[in-house]
Amino acid sequence: MIFRTPVYYQDFQCIADRCQDNCCIGWEIDIDAETAEQYRSIAGEFGDRLRRNIRFGEPSCFILGREERCPFLNDRNLCDIITTLGELALCQICTDHPRYYEWFGGVKEGGIGMCCEEAARIILSQECSFSVTETKIPDEDCAPCDEELYEVLVQLRENMFAVLHDGSLPLGKRLGAVLDLAFAQQVCTDNGGGLAEECPQLEPENGDMGAILQFLQTLEPISEAWHPTLAKAQKHLPEIAANLPAFLEENPRVPQYLRNIAVYFLWRYLLKGAFDGEFLSRAVLAVMSTCVIALLWAAEWQGGELTAEQCAEIAKNYSKEIEYSEENLNAVLDAAYDLPAMTVHCLKGLTVLC
Ligand code: SF4
Repeated sequence: MIFRTPVYYQDFQCIADRCQDNCCIGWEIDIDAETAEQYRSIAGEFGDRLRRNIRFGEPSCFILGREERCPFLNDRNLCDIITTLGELALCQICTDHPRYYEWFGGVKEGGIGMCCEEAARIILSQECSFSVTETKIPDEDCAPCDEELYEVLVQLRENMFAVLHDGSLPLGKRLGAVLDLAFAQQVCTDNGGGLAEECPQLEPENGDMGAILQFLQTLEPISEAWHPTLAKAQKHLPEIAANLPAFLEENPRVPQYLRNIAVYFLWRYLLKGAFDGEFLSRAVLAVMSTCVIALLWAAEWQGGELTAEQCAEIAKNYSKEIEYSEENLNAVLDAAYDLPAMTVHCLKGLTVLC
């Protein structure tokens, strides 16, 4: 089987006690059955501590402590399971996070999730064109997908990446072209065709970013600060839109960051269409997320330079709230078709924001 990842996947290393927003705080952490069994049999005092702090069941999970901290995260924000038993003793989620994987027949794809601040920093900082690395690994089990559609989507994603890296076009036009490509292919696929040969340009309508920000505030927040952040951007939308040219001029690296975010979402989600035939909604997710993050950056901007750290922090927060809640992610994908404000025509109208 082939294992394919972005090249930057290899650069990730958890920054542990230097992390401002530790992923061992605020999340319920499930323990896979095999590791839970191992934890049941660890001898001695640490074994007793493990068993006292795990709720065994299907699935088993750690019993979170004060401020929803993992009970094994110590005062120096280091993991006591690693320091006592070694990294190999971690459960699957803790071993993988923030890495993610998807299996398509003989191919396993992976990457690093933007919900982690170090991963967000790495994703945003990529200056060159997106490149991947492939290695051979032993076969792993996977659910069947539509292999013909998978091949079409791989090519579609390549075409989208080529457009996103076309520096001769402003980013907004590139994002609009991604929507054109996705729309044309979805129509072609729905009508039983292969790779779409023609790509008519959609007419942009007057998109309403306020409606998208409003919609996002109907979703269940993870952090208390999230809805106020969206509400503030919504309230000041006219000023933010008016200040966008100055924001972009004073922050010349912002288009690179935004391009990388669009690439990240397309890399991670577009091929999932090979399982259910829906990929336009995933392209909408990528473009909408890029536009919303751009807006949140501009809302945060007070003149001068918005630092790379600030940009990564906001992108990470967006990812946690939208991508890392299955419920919220599904709501956005559903809304990509249902809400008038998020139809592709409207969204294309909004890409000028970038
Ligand atoms: S969020 Fe990322 S950098 Fe921070 S502790 Fe978790 S994996 Fe490490």
